[in-house]
Amino acid sequence: MTELASTAVVTGGTRGIGRAVALRLAQSGYQVYFTYVSKPELAEEVVAEIEKAGGTAKAFRLDSADSDAVSTFFADEIKGKVSLDVLVNNAGITRDGLIMRMKDDDFNAVIDINLRGAFYCLREAAKIMAKQRMGRIVNIASVVGLMGNAGQINYVSAKAGLIGMTKSAARELGGRGVTVNAVAPGFIETDMTAALSEEVRKGYIANIPLKRMGTSEEVADAVAWLASDQAGYVTGQTLSVNGGMYM
Ligand code: NAP
Repeated sequence: MTELASTAVVTGGTRGIGRAVALRLAQSGYQVYFTYVSKPELAEEVVAEIEKAGGTAKAFRLDSADSDAVSTFFADEIKGKVSLDVLVNNAGITRDGLIMRMKDDDFNAVIDINLRGAFYCLREAAKIMAKQRMGRIVNIASVVGLMGNAGQINYVSAKAGLIGMTKSAARELGGRGVTVNAVAPGFIETDMTAALSEEVRKGYIANIPLKRMGTSEEVADAVAWLASDQAGYVTGQTLSVNGGMYM
């Protein structure tokens, strides 16, 4: 019997943290399957970068919030075809606004992608990993899921939910050799934070003990550690990568 390729699935791998995670896990030796929704040219760029460094990667246009599409992806591309060693639920969006002005659509869209989407992928991965009797799931939460944040009730609800989902899944899947952890990044330099005004950025940085924003690579290193053999006895945890922003 031929051995199936050791594979990591990363949602939202074309930009920011997901891109850095895809590159980092490829460096660790995984074949990387990553998803995106809107920019195929960026997806090609990431595949090319991984291949140039000697790795293997494939990009899939897949909206995490589409439950049927997620099931089809895992059935057609993963089950029985590769060894699903790692799932990183990274895809996420923000639609910030104050509570009293927040529209249903903005609340729901953020929950759909950041929370429901993570669940759809986790559920499919769990079926496969439980059967394999091994696997690593890492959910990308956020510092604000731990501390709350004015103007982000939708996003904070999703990220706090993701931390709860991590703890529950860790309890349910531990007996099958599957670990489930979260990484809670602080204020990281990506497209998501580029939209903030200079004043808001300065305000955040003033409250970070390390006095700078973090990089996507610093978050990716934490994810790679949780996916590695060194983290074999770590599950149900939320690892903060935030420059000391919230302690
Ligand atoms: P980003 O630069 O905006 O990148 C988001 C990635 O997710 C893109 O590749 C995007 O692909 C993909 N994506 C968006 N919606 C998707 C969907 N429905 N299905 C599949 N992929 C989708 O974001 P980031 O700053 O790297 O954030 C990544 C994760 O870290 C998010 O979960 C975010 O909440 C979390 N986080 C970020 C920070 C920060 O300071 N940046 C802090 C804490 C937590 P397309 O371009 O194709 O849409």
